[in-house]
Amino acid sequence: MTALRGSGRVEAVETSEGVVPTDLVLIATGIRPNVELAQAMGVALGPTGAIATDERMRTNLEEVYAAGDVAESFHQVLKRPYWLPLGDVANKHGRTAGAVIAGKEARFHGVAGTAIFKAFGLAVATTGLSLEAALKEGYAAKKVFIKSRDGAHYYPGSQPLFVELVYEEGTERLLGGAVVAFGHGALRVDALAALLSRGGTVEDLLALDLAYAPPFSPVWDPLLIAAQEVR
Ligand SMILES: Cc1cc2nc3c(=O)[nH]c(=O)nc-3n(C[C@H](O)[C@H](O)[C@H](O)COP(=O)(O)OP(=O)(O)OC[C@H]3O[C@@H](n4cnc5c(N)ncnc54)[C@H](O)[C@@H]3O)c2cc1C
Repeated sequence: MTALRGSGRVEAVETSEGVVPTDLVLIATGIRPNVELAQAMGVALGPTGAIATDERMRTNLEEVYAAGDVAESFHQVLKRPYWLPLGDVANKHGRTAGAVIAGKEARFHGVAGTAIFKAFGLAVATTGLSLEAALKEGYAAKKVFIKSRDGAHYYPGSQPLFVELVYEEGTERLLGGAVVAFGHGALRVDALAALLSRGGTVEDLLALDLAYAPPFSPVWDPLLIAAQEVR
């Protein structure tokens, strides 16, 4: 891409291969932790390039704590430091550091890699590892994908909802998952995040007593349908 064209709003993108008319441009430049100040004072970075912290958000320097986008977290599935620069994580980091500094007992328990975003009317929620990431990590990973709904099929206004589960073949340990929906149904991903934080399996998911009433879910919750699909 060499330039954006338009009058008042973007109308086209200039590229080395020609001009492409467009209504929307998404620029994904990536992000990196702003650790220059910390490095200058001798704070150690971890393997991700963000500041290495323990579960009390302590750095290698006594009385120096790190919290937020500059700091690493512990990944509950990968069992190693991981950089997840998100607002809820930053808040938990900060609360933990503040409590510890104030002399209280507090720990940050790490991240499962949970995130959610909305693109137009569609909510996309993920947690843990994608199939690609799990295979890259060396897991004998498999996935199931199911189409369901965010309410009973006969309930007025119920909408399609999609679930993907990633698990380890053999142990059936859950490694990750995603829920895509047209509304708050995507927050079902939180049940998967809870299981991932405890090393849960497909059987643990099947054992969950999930809420049901026609406006909110089919009689078999989509997560349970996905878990059954593994069998
Ligand atoms: C467009 C956008 C949308 C997002 N949406 C979500 C979302 O939906 N959900 C989610 O979980 N997360 C989201 N995030 C990420 C979230 O905003 C960040 O993870 C969070 O704000 C990190 O908090 P922080 O306090 O670590 O850093 P920041 O919020 O970046 O605060 C750091 C502050 O330090 C200041 N600062 C930097 N250097 C210095 C210096 N040398 N001296 C003094 N001050 C300094 C900065 O000006 C800034 O005010 C989004 C981020 C962006 C950019």
